[in-house]
Amino acid sequence: MAKGFSGGVHPHEEKYTEKIAIEAMPLPKRVYIPFSQHTGKPALPLVKKGDEVKVGTKIGEADGFISSSVHSSISGTVVDIKKYPHPVVGESLCCIIESNNQDEWEQGVKVKQNYESLSRKELIEIIKEAGIVGLGGAAFPTYVKLSPPEGKKIDTIIINGCECEPMLTADHRLILEYPIGIIEGAGLFQRVLDAPRLIFAIENNKLDAADVLKKEGVEVVILKTKYPQGAEKQLIKAVLNREVPRGGLPMDVGCVVQNVGTAYAAFQAAKYRKPLIDRVVTVTGDGIKEPKNLLVRIGTRAIDVINHCGGYTNPPKKIIFGGPMMGIAQFTDEVPVIKGTSGIIVRARAQTFPEGPCVRCASCIDVCPMGLMPTEIYKFVKNRRFKTAKEFGALDCIECGCCAYSCPARIPLVHYIKYGKAEIRRTEKK
Ligand code: SF4
Ligand code: SF4
Repeated sequence: MAKGFSGGVHPHEEKYTEKIAIEAMPLPKRVYIPFSQHTGKPALPLVKKGDEVKVGTKIGEADGFISSSVHSSISGTVVDIKKYPHPVVGESLCCIIESNNQDEWEQGVKVKQNYESLSRKELIEIIKEAGIVGLGGAAFPTYVKLSPPEGKKIDTIIINGCECEPMLTADHRLILEYPIGIIEGAGLFQRVLDAPRLIFAIENNKLDAADVLKKEGVEVVILKTKYPQGAEKQLIKAVLNREVPRGGLPMDVGCVVQNVGTAYAAFQAAKYRKPLIDRVVTVTGDGIKEPKNLLVRIGTRAIDVINHCGGYTNPPKKIIFGGPMMGIAQFTDEVPVIKGTSGIIVRARAQTFPEGPCVRCASCIDVCPMGLMPTEIYKFVKNRRFKTAKEFGALDCIECGCCAYSCPARIPLVHYIKYGKAEIRRTEKK
């Protein structure tokens, strides 16, 4: 077993869906595909109202270096392009497509290709064209991660199969059901980056997944089940005992981290020229009648996914996109699944507690995996002393939520710190 990282917490796992096989959700009647589903600039629309599209038609072009293309996930007609609810940014420009129920794919997509002989440059271009982004949540364009600047040598690729967020099981199921595709995708990353070492990182609550990978002869490192084990910097520390410098990137310590879902998507892009038009989503929580792991077309509304899972048990108190620790609470169930949506959690019961005064217990400091002092940072933010909050490392916060989880005074520390970070960035931009 590998070493760990300092800090972190042990929330109840609640992985109720870990034994439930992935099921493909029937085609939605309409999809709502935002042009912004990734870190970086939104894609530029390539279609207009009335256009006919197929599955895999490019509907948005990457705009600049850090951006990603988007594709239609069904065949049919573009019925509108307008602002629509978005699960991360509240609202954004969206392409609404009405299905023709034909599921017609773009020419050449899903046809087996020989990608083994392609050059590194060609593989990167295929991944870029397919709109592949990190599927672990941050949705950073994958081709950018595969294009380190001149002089940055990558010696190790870590394929992240930790899925440390409670309740989520999409990655776990993907490893159990599609190990070969994941391994081929990982090998493709290894070839592109010319990295000598490839490691699969798995938490010890998924030993069946580790066994499946080991049987295929790849290197697997088993890690302690601890949140946030799957965060890049913590993962690199635990697996390689290397520390990413403050403000730095994994490539500064010779490493690139990719999620298992991203590896599988890259494999599908290379082998079948399949753009990123679907993903596995865990749908769970006490508010869902039949929790499932679903293969969902991008742009499907949460309510359609929930209805496919038998609907709500009771009127929902909270709907979260992502995991319970880092996920984002939604104001409507009309929001669509996007590339970074790993889970939809519905709570039928949700208690809210009033914020109390800080009792100076230091729990938040003990659990912070970034070695920060959340109690100090939140006080500076509360008093609008953003410059001092920055000096105390606010921008290094990875928003994991460990501090708020462990705070006996129920202070929403992450909300304060997120707000502080936004204010610091806004001032610096000025
Ligand atoms: S301060 Fe940020 S990094 Fe530290 S525990 Fe809180 S959310 Fe996580
Ligand atoms: S955990 Fe909460 S109460 Fe304890 S020091 Fe941190 S902010 Fe204060």
